[in-house]
Amino acid sequence: MSNKAPRGVRMVITLAGKRNAGKSSLINALTGQEIAIVSDHPGTTTDPVAKPYELLPLGPVTFYDTAGLDDTGTLGEQRIRATRRVLYRTDVALLVAGAEGLGPEEHDILASMRELDMSVIVVFNKTDLAAPRPESLAYCSAQGLPFACCSALTRAGIDDLKQLLIRSAPPEYAEEPVLVGDLIGEGDTVLCVVPIDLAAPKGRLILPQVQVLRDVLDCDALGMVVKERELEEALAVLQKDPALVVTDSQVVLKVAGDVPETVPLTTFSILFARYKGDLAVMVDGARAIDSLQDGDTVLMCEACSHHAVADDIGRVKIPRWITQYTGKKLHFETYAGHDFPRDLERFALAVHCGGCMTNRTEMLRRIRECTRRGVPITNYGVAISKVQGLLDRAVAPFGL
Ligand code: SF4
Repeated sequence: MSNKAPRGVRMVITLAGKRNAGKSSLINALTGQEIAIVSDHPGTTTDPVAKPYELLPLGPVTFYDTAGLDDTGTLGEQRIRATRRVLYRTDVALLVAGAEGLGPEEHDILASMRELDMSVIVVFNKTDLAAPRPESLAYCSAQGLPFACCSALTRAGIDDLKQLLIRSAPPEYAEEPVLVGDLIGEGDTVLCVVPIDLAAPKGRLILPQVQVLRDVLDCDALGMVVKERELEEALAVLQKDPALVVTDSQVVLKVAGDVPETVPLTTFSILFARYKGDLAVMVDGARAIDSLQDGDTVLMCEACSHHAVADDIGRVKIPRWITQYTGKKLHFETYAGHDFPRDLERFALAVHCGGCMTNRTEMLRRIRECTRRGVPITNYGVAISKVQGLLDRAVAPFGL
């Protein structure tokens, strides 16, 4: 059993419900492990607790055990807000109800879940104590809400709940996601260009680079990795042109100069814009850079909180390049981690990081939120290709 899958490719399953509905016991029953703290005292779980698990045949998932919806006081309000933030990146929500069935708190959170357009399963737990209330069952049937009746204590109904959970997974988790596999064939060579600069982590490649190389190997193709300085030499030693060159966005200008026009070229960011979100929307968002005006505010989104280096890509370089490209006086505001502004309308453009630490669901929700509010959204790498004048070439392999 492996818990090593990157966080961004794990399906997120969140358990929400009132205190003492048995959420923690239910995670233990689903996983067959004593991984959540269980207590008869209501409100044992405070902040959302992440538990990785291999839910076969689906694959790696993360269960989030959340605080009670009826938690009280200022701390309680903070905990409920934290639960709602987790819901934003949730693929499947389990709304856990105890013997008292569905009350106002459950209906309230159900409305939020539906607004976020996620799969929801209502779980009537503790059937060893009492049968679910008929009016709650009737409500689920009338609303077309999938539900399961079980007992975390006796484990009755747990296998059926697992099967329902697997069937409720978004289709992209049932399919093998493709990064480059549809762009190359068996025996092709893929040349990856990876600058090793101050921002590069010591002693390793970053996750998107590793994932692309793994996909190349899965396609029975040949992967070759060089720094931008060795690119010309690499092209010279190859007996035939590579089927694809994938470069770090920051050196796309130099790489485009070295790679013949006849060789397809793209960037890691563009591959991930497609893998994690919606490439066509991101490309339209990059093209909207041309419409920025003096005084506009640009939202810079980072999906994780990391230590910003002196010439940080999201905080320094991209704002500088967009400003130079447009010649406009722009304001840039950065949001990091799971924070995402509610007042999106005040931004003329959103530029998102590659999102390697988040899942496709959260990225798609952010894209959908921006699109709904009329805010163009792009990502770092797509924006860089745009301001370097190379966007059309870098998205040509995708027919855009
Ligand atoms: S800021 Fe975004 S792309 Fe960079 S490490 Fe964090 S999640 Fe990954």
